[in-house]
Amino acid sequence: MKILVVEDERKIASFIRQGLTEQGFSVDVCGDGNDAFTLATTHAYDVIVLDIMLPGRDGLSILKNLRSRKQTVPVILLTARTEPNERVEGLNLGADDYLTKPFYMDELIARIQAVTRRASGETLNLVQVEDLVINLITREVKRGNRAIELTAREFNLLEPLMRSPSRVFTRTQLLEKVWGYDFDPETNLVDVNIRRLRKKIDESEPVQLIETVRGVGYRIRKAGK
Ligand code: CA
Repeated sequence: MKILVVEDERKIASFIRQGLTEQGFSVDVCGDGNDAFTLATTHAYDVIVLDIMLPGRDGLSILKNLRSRKQTVPVILLTARTEPNERVEGLNLGADDYLTKPFYMDELIARIQAVTRRASGETLNLVQVEDLVINLITREVKRGNRAIELTAREFNLLEPLMRSPSRVFTRTQLLEKVWGYDFDPETNLVDVNIRRLRKKIDESEPVQLIETVRGVGYRIRKAGK
């Protein structure tokens, strides 16, 4: 599988190159938006991992131009946590998925595998575990036919759990993902918000999806796992 990684921060680019090469992917790395657009339009890549802030031409403009040329290559955007609008705009422009920096290598690999597995055009923005469905663009949440109202924080906390069902996230990992690195690790923000999520998602349901893994953290439980 051939992957184009467009990232101008050298440390991140080489971290990604190394991780993907170890997985057996063939990787081209490019740090300039104009060069990346040329590469993307002249080579057949299976996936493009695309940073947004780039010299030359930004990632969203590259994506928009690819899509207007009917190029359907799966695109995973790398976004900054501080720019929540970018990912919505990116998904609307035709990105298949996004990852917020900083991320773990295994998350990127899982996303690459998911976007290449999915047939193009199929319910790309929905993530479902059992009867719980979240929409990454509209941020709507439904359990069966019941619509659930979540705050932005609650949604941001639920999202990583939904994207990696059965995987256990520690409080620290969730804290980093949702609130950033600067919080006191002793804070109970995660537990408080998990409690609120449970109330909205699991209370009154026969099957409890949010599971506490004692001494470790939380996960969304998939039947049989
Ligand atoms: Ca950048």
